Amino acid sequence: MDLGLERKSVLVTAASRGLGLATAKLFAAEGARVTIASRNESSLQAAAHEIHTETGHMVNVVRMDVNRSEDIARVVASAEEFGDGLDSLICNAGGPPSGAFSQIDDSTWYQAFEQNLLSVVRLSRAALPHLRRSSSGRIVNITSTSVKQTIPGLVLSNTMRAGVWGLTKTLSQELGPFGILVNTVGPGRISTDRIAELDGQAAARQGVDVADIETKMAAMIPLGRYGTPEEFARMVVFLASPLNTYVTGQALLVDGGMVTSL
Ligand code: NAD
Repeated sequence: MDLGLERKSVLVTAASRGLGLATAKLFAAEGARVTIASRNESSLQAAAHEIHTETGHMVNVVRMDVNRSEDIARVVASAEEFGDGLDSLICNAGGPPSGAFSQIDDSTWYQAFEQNLLSVVRLSRAALPHLRRSSSGRIVNITSTSVKQTIPGLVLSNTMRAGVWGLTKTLSQELGPFGILVNTVGPGRISTDRIAELDGQAAARQGVDVADIETKMAAMIPLGRYGTPEEFARMVVFLASPLNTYVTGQALLVDGGMVTSL
C-alpha cells in the first residue's frame, strides 16, 4: 500500500527519542521530507544520525522548546522551507508530571497547560496557512489513553489531554472544508525510555524487580505485552498520510486493547 508520502513535508515535534523518533523515522522511510524538533541539540543530532543510518534519508533538525511561542514560529518556518511547504504536523511533547489533585500547585498546572495543550494550539495556528496550501493537510496530536479513560494519579494528563481531544474535534470540523484532517492518537503502554524510567521508579518504590512491574502491567493488556514505538508510529503515519482520506475528528488508541471504556 502506497501511503503517498514521497516528498511530502512533515514536522514532528519532541522527536529526539521515543514515540516522536519512531514516527519521524517511519515518515523518512516512506520518503517524506522530515523536520524533527526537540530541546536538546546533541540528542537531536543522534536521532537524525539514527534515521539516516536506518532509512538512508537526511532530516532537518531544529532545536526548540514547545513551551516557547517564538520557537514554534521558527520550527514551522524551517519545516516549510526544508520541505517546500508543509503537509503534515505531528504535535508531540514530553508528558506532564504525575500526582494527585491535592499535590499540584498553580505553577505546575500552568506548565502542563503550556506544554501539553497550548503548544498544540500554537503549532496548529502557525502551521495552518501552510497546511491550507497543501493538497493533503493533516494534523495528528499525540496524547494518551486518558482521552478515553482517566488514569488514577494523573490529573494533569486527564485534564490537558481531554483539552487536546476537544481541540482536535473542533479543528476537524473547522478545517474539514479545507481538506485538512485532524486526529489524536493515544498510546497505551508503549516501550520507550520514558516507560522504562517509570517502571524503574515504580519498582524502586515497591521494592520489587522491574520485571515484576512489567509483568503486572502486561497482564492488564489483552495482547499480553507492551507495544513497540514502531507499532504506534504506523497509526500516526497512516492518519497523517494522503492515503487517509476519510478519518478525521477521531481519538484512536494504540493500546493492545488495554482501555476498557467503550
Ligand atoms: P519520551 O520521554 O521518551 O520522549 C519525549 C520527547 O519529548 C523527548 O524527545 C524529549 O526531548 C521531548 N520533549 C520533552 N519536553 C519537550 C519540550 N518542552 N519541547 C520539545 N521537546 C520536548 O516520551 P514518549 O514515551 O515517547 O511519549 C511521548 C508522549 O506520549 C508524551 O507526552 C507521553 O506522556 C505520551 N504518552 C506515552 C505513553 C507511552 O506508552 N510511551 C503512554 C501515554 C502517553
